[in-house]
Amino acid sequence: MLRARDYAEADRIVTLLTRDFGKLSGIAKGAKASRKRFERKLEPLSCVTLFFRRRPHGQLVFITRAEPGETLHPPLDDELTKLALGAYMVELADALMREEGEAARAFRVLEDALAAAGQGPPTLALRQAYELQMMEATGYGLDFARCRLCGNRVETLTGALYFVVARGGIVCGRCRPEAPEGAVRLEGQSALVLAHLAVTPLELIASATAAGRDGAAALNRFLMTILDRRLRSADFLDGVL
Ligand SMILES: [Zn+2]
Repeated sequence: MLRARDYAEADRIVTLLTRDFGKLSGIAKGAKASRKRFERKLEPLSCVTLFFRRRPHGQLVFITRAEPGETLHPPLDDELTKLALGAYMVELADALMREEGEAARAFRVLEDALAAAGQGPPTLALRQAYELQMMEATGYGLDFARCRLCGNRVETLTGALYFVVARGGIVCGRCRPEAPEGAVRLEGQSALVLAHLAVTPLELIASATAAGRDGAAALNRFLMTILDRRLRSADFLDGVL
């Protein structure tokens, strides 16, 4: 569940990321009153099995029932940092996903990320790995493993690297004159860490190292460019993580 808000007297309008139907928005009539059909399942961060039907007109589907999901991740609301990270995860998924797009991979990434956040500890490495993998799942994959122009692997490069948004990854010092766009300067080590986080399964991320300030700045620059806004939950998360 990505977003939920009350509507009229007794209804709720919710937006979900679903495994089989992409991002979906729907209305649950009488949700606030009917504990039997919905049992307070329609809350952000919850994982549910949803019963719905499409309406001939209008974008909202008609939600008839919600049950506990197959995969229940540990609750996140017992710790502020976990809650902040979870809220950021769903807001980012919401911002990156288009309605009705193919979402099976994004669903899996979000599911694994919420599970990892619930099992804790909520770390910067988890945040960065999630950002990289959710971007990849929604068509914004970044390459930190090699120079986008000459193709040389980061391990073989010396000196500073440059993360160039328009190139979708890094450019080495030698190729930099050919890619003069604005860039975030990146240590080789940070690029290596980000390349690693992009492919590490999220359930194994607990022991991983996060990229430093320069790596975080590169990810932030890219997200700001494609989203054209800062996520509300990002400020809160920055304050606690
Ligand atoms: Zn190069």
